[in-house]
Amino acid sequence: MVRCIFMPNGCRWDEQREKYFERLRAHMVQTQLRARGIKDERVLKAFMEVPRHRFVLPENIKEAHEDHPLPIGFGQTISQPFMVATMTEALSLRGDEKALEVGAGSGYQAAILGKLCKEVYAIERIPELAERAKRTIEELGYTNVHIVVGDGTLGLPEHAPYDAIVVSAAAPDIPPALIEQLSDGGRLVIPVGSQYSQVLIRVTKSGGRIKREEICACVFVPLIGKYGWQEDVAW
Ligand code: SAH
Repeated sequence: MVRCIFMPNGCRWDEQREKYFERLRAHMVQTQLRARGIKDERVLKAFMEVPRHRFVLPENIKEAHEDHPLPIGFGQTISQPFMVATMTEALSLRGDEKALEVGAGSGYQAAILGKLCKEVYAIERIPELAERAKRTIEELGYTNVHIVVGDGTLGLPEHAPYDAIVVSAAAPDIPPALIEQLSDGGRLVIPVGSQYSQVLIRVTKSGGRIKREEICACVFVPLIGKYGWQEDVAW
């Protein structure tokens, strides 16, 4: 790849390119997030900072900032920016949290959480996707985001409890381990429903009590695992 061509204005080609993507991110944040009601300034700033184009497949780079999910291989997708923002905002993050993501996929949601939390663990069942996400995260210099291979329906007990848990795949029901691994005061955001459509639910744990709130309708790829759907389910 050509990386060092100097442009007529003295800027290097890769700098020009990054500036171009920065403008696309600013437009995405303005038109898809702010305009639709995402208010948390820390969340909006994280979306400005994380280079979404680095998490998509090279053939989709031109569409990286568009208002829809994109394929990332293995039948999986990187979620629509607005959905990632909605889930992130619903976690009410302050910066001192230990967070868990189930369904790391490209690593984009994990990278957003990395900007907003102290420590992030993101679990992915497909080793090839986990490997790619790990590489992207490393190349971008995150030191607080850890990608792990495994069945996230069991949570990740070795680092529990978590102040925030986000599930990026559709569950038939809330896996019990995720509620168990939530700290007191912790928030869990998860799409629950059928294989065709789900409701995004926020669970808050407080003094041993569980509060459930519905956020919005949504459509995600299936959560496959012991407390999710079976692998051979017809989609
Ligand atoms: N958050 C991702 C979106 C990935 S799509 C991103 O930002 O790109 C959902 C992902 O969940 C897929 O990669 C899928 O392989 C993964 N997944 C499904 N069931 C899982 C499970 N039980 N444990 C961990 N990952 C799972």
